[in-house]
Amino acid sequence: MSSAALKRVFCMSLGCSKNTADSEKIAGTLSDYGFEMVGDAGSADIAIVNTCGFIRSAVEENIAAILDLAELKKGGRLKLVGVVGCLVARYGDELKLGMPEVDFWAGCDDIGSILESAGARGARVTGSVLRKRLPGDVSHVRYLKISDGCDNACSYCTIPAIKGSMRSRPTEDIVREAEVLAEDGAAEICLVAQDLTAYGRDAGLHGGLVALLDALESSLPRDMWLRLLYLQPSGVNRALLERVAGGRQVLPYLDIPIQHAAPGVLKRMNRDGDPRKLAGIFRTARSIRPDFALRTTCMVGFPGETRSDFAALLRFVEEICPDRMGAFAFSPEEGAAASDMPRQVSERVKKSRLCRLMSLQEDVSLARQNLFVGRELDVILDSVGGGGVAEGRSFREAHDVDGVVDVMGLPEEISPGRKIRAVMTGASEHDMEARFLVFPPVGALTCS
Ligand code: SF4
Repeated sequence: MSSAALKRVFCMSLGCSKNTADSEKIAGTLSDYGFEMVGDAGSADIAIVNTCGFIRSAVEENIAAILDLAELKKGGRLKLVGVVGCLVARYGDELKLGMPEVDFWAGCDDIGSILESAGARGARVTGSVLRKRLPGDVSHVRYLKISDGCDNACSYCTIPAIKGSMRSRPTEDIVREAEVLAEDGAAEICLVAQDLTAYGRDAGLHGGLVALLDALESSLPRDMWLRLLYLQPSGVNRALLERVAGGRQVLPYLDIPIQHAAPGVLKRMNRDGDPRKLAGIFRTARSIRPDFALRTTCMVGFPGETRSDFAALLRFVEEICPDRMGAFAFSPEEGAAASDMPRQVSERVKKSRLCRLMSLQEDVSLARQNLFVGRELDVILDSVGGGGVAEGRSFREAHDVDGVVDVMGLPEEISPGRKIRAVMTGASEHDMEARFLVFPPVGALTCS
């Protein structure tokens, strides 16, 4: 079979939501050129793996997935295997030598090369913003990447080396893509990037994210939910907090990774080293809007982290009371400056600190959750069961990241993606229970 005759493509999207957005763009472009996207490798001619190479465990998992597809190719089912994305940027040269069964390698941005390798020779890349869900994906939550790369240099992170410096997408492309997602049934759009707050900086813009939110809100349906994921604290200011707090479609949800709160640790992480400034962001957010949903990420066991550094982190968490936290133990990554730092923390200490931090956060989360019991909130239904029950989320929960809202008393014949109003009837550290009240008027959002 010549490559030009290969038409059925299976795309495996691994890693983060930014990869999901890239994979949908690859699928959209291939479909535009006549390829048929299929949901399993066994019925495909071509398999493309969109990889993640951020941490060691992801690298191993991704290599295993590629080898599985290579086996299928050996067995004659697949004709071509392509590998694209972060793993190619990080380990492309070594992998190409060690995996001759892979037919093509490309960066995610390099759609032209993917098309050509898949056999669409002569086809011109139009630069359109076409996106296509991967087969089997019925989600009403879609991810929209507004920039790629990162100009920061956190000492534990390999992303700038993998992704390069920050490149913002033109506002009109982002708005058009958001409109396409809305037309395709999106009920919630999550803006993603390595650092949302840096949007437009590479083009000399100040307040680029606020201007982008203005443009998106005026173009999207009034009942669309817009959620911001990944706001680097150094780029969060009062103007942004007020814009998010007063948004029409933008949800009052802030995902601000602090990583640590001890000045020495922050300095060695090569991050803004003033914990008072960090605390100020959370205090200002809560003064503007007490019910702001605040999420953060913390890392324990960074090289040189002392007992008193860790105690400072615990005190900080008690002070800022984040609604949710993602917590991780430091993992030395090849090529990251922190991997070679002296005074590495033992795995035993990392584990025990991680447990302590998470246990504290459970108490903090439960206290925050309890504040919402008795409140009426809009809830988007993600999965609907029988008997009037469904799992959903309010503005306080990001999809696949935070907890859920278990709703009871729903009318039958209700579909996922529908927004309803519910009264919160119970809370645990992660999840809420709620009872259906009404279907809210389009565009109304009851957060306070
Ligand atoms: S902000 Fe820091 S942690 Fe985040 S991608 Fe950039 S360098 Fe990595």
